Amino acid sequence: MTLDPKLAQQELAKVGKDGLAASDLIDLKGRGGLTYNDFLILPGFINFPADNVSLETKITRNITLKAPLMSSPMDTVTEVDMAITMALLGGIGILHNNCTPEEQAAMVKKVKKFENGFITDPIVLSAQHKISDVIAIKNRLGFAGVPITDNGKVGGKLIGIVTNRDIGFREDTDAELSTVMSTDVVTARYGVTLAEANQILRESKKGKLPIVDESNNLVSLVARSDLLKNRDYPWASKHPQTKQLLVGAAIGTRPADRGRLEKLVEAGLDLVVIDSSQGNSSFQIEMIKHIKETYGSKIDVLAGNVVTRDQAANLIAAGADGLRIGMGSGSICITQEVMAVGRPQGTGVFQVSQFARKFGVPTVADGGISNVGHIAKALSLGASCVMMGSLLAGTTEAPGEYFFLDGKRLKKYRGMGSLDAMEKNDSDNSGSQARYFSESDKVKVAQGVTGAVVDKGSIKQFIPYLITGLQHSLQDMGVPHLSELWNMVDSGEVRFEHRSAAAQIEGGVHDLFSYEKRLYK
Ligand code: NAD
Ligand code: IMP
Repeated sequence: MTLDPKLAQQELAKVGKDGLAASDLIDLKGRGGLTYNDFLILPGFINFPADNVSLETKITRNITLKAPLMSSPMDTVTEVDMAITMALLGGIGILHNNCTPEEQAAMVKKVKKFENGFITDPIVLSAQHKISDVIAIKNRLGFAGVPITDNGKVGGKLIGIVTNRDIGFREDTDAELSTVMSTDVVTARYGVTLAEANQILRESKKGKLPIVDESNNLVSLVARSDLLKNRDYPWASKHPQTKQLLVGAAIGTRPADRGRLEKLVEAGLDLVVIDSSQGNSSFQIEMIKHIKETYGSKIDVLAGNVVTRDQAANLIAAGADGLRIGMGSGSICITQEVMAVGRPQGTGVFQVSQFARKFGVPTVADGGISNVGHIAKALSLGASCVMMGSLLAGTTEAPGEYFFLDGKRLKKYRGMGSLDAMEKNDSDNSGSQARYFSESDKVKVAQGVTGAVVDKGSIKQFIPYLITGLQHSLQDMGVPHLSELWNMVDSGEVRFEHRSAAAQIEGGVHDLFSYEKRLYK
């Protein structure tokens, strides 16, 4: 007997879909808020491959990324390396502000100047340096190919190059480089593409190709040894006109932050993040207005943090281009414990995102993301992007040195409201201390802790894992494009279910004597 194919659908229409619409999931009738581990998303219908799932998303009114991923403005998470690599991989990095405005602006400049494959701050010497200087560089960094300029700096006139061959068997290590350098240098003009530069290197059989401007001043360098390492980054987050990588930076709401922002904008900043745990303040509203009046559409403002609709309403009214959501959800955070103020992140993300969407203002779910599933859940609750601290700390690109403890390779990770972070740079008044306390504050109240996280390797492997994992998650939900997710959630097509404590145990690895958890290859 064959079943009439219409019958199953007719029965489904009669009994209704399983699970809950998102609004019913979140509505606990005043009995508290939810966070990521408290619920699951029910599977949908798959009729597309996972690698076709588009994750393109608007993170603010005017900035679109290919991957909904952002790194936190924390001094153990985002400096130049993290910001460059996040942007190359389709996300964006937000540079921390626990440093002087000049240092932060220099970081912005380095990200904006970055060109894949071009070394924009090569080691350079002058003709008056000695052979011993090159030997020292070789011992320290492993290469001996050094361009020589008239002032010994990038930007100076290129007058020669010293390579391994030039210094190979010389015993007079006190001799000036002017006596050994090659002056017949193959160069390429600034503006050359990486492919063209590579071609010149191959044909000339040279190891290093200095890139010079029309006056023969050194601009950058391409190294043959890097040729194989260069890969394409088709998802790279770039400014549509300048084609430079996109970068964000954090500022506070003190009067001095206006001067800081001026330097950041001069350096080419794309996105300013107003960094506060409680963004619903007259200080922040004044800052947003100032930015909008001074810079217009030149930079986008990600305001916050907020977790309620009324906080959001004030910042949207002031002109925010995006909202950052999260109070007390961070892995290093003790705000809810000390201030007794905050909100479970799932509820905060849903309520604020629903409200902000009415005004075309995207939201960023910040804090508490500890796996791919949390990213998928944050997005399904309405966020356009997630911000990650602990998940990216401990990677090669995060600031700081690795150290060993109990046989594990670790990196330091600390809250920006930890005493440790606040005390940084006390002497030059550039650190968190300067922002968190007025002269009259006698007691420092910490809102974060200092800790360590395990080595995660490079984000060049980790971010592709997050992206691929997320594509599979959306495929399981039956969502082919991130931009369709919110409509499918609103219409009740994507369904949710609460997860009891027992269900959470069931959903994790259980009943094994031992196991190894490897996440990607
Ligand atoms: P903040 O700069 O917003 O506030 C610090 C103090 O300075 C507050 O008392 C504030 O009222 C005051 N202040 C700010 N602007 C002022 C002005 N113009 N005049 C006078 N007083 C002013 O910083 P925060 O909320 O303490 O956060 C510090 C850092 O810690 C940030 O990096 C933040 O992201 C992080 N943090 C985050 C969370 C979270 O849950 N997301 C929680 C705690 C801390
Ligand atoms: P994580 O991804 O869970 O580690 O959370 C990172 C987020 O925690 C950051 O993006 C900030 O919003 C927040 N945060 C940073 N420093 C502190 C702090 O000292 N106390 C509380 N929250 C913090």
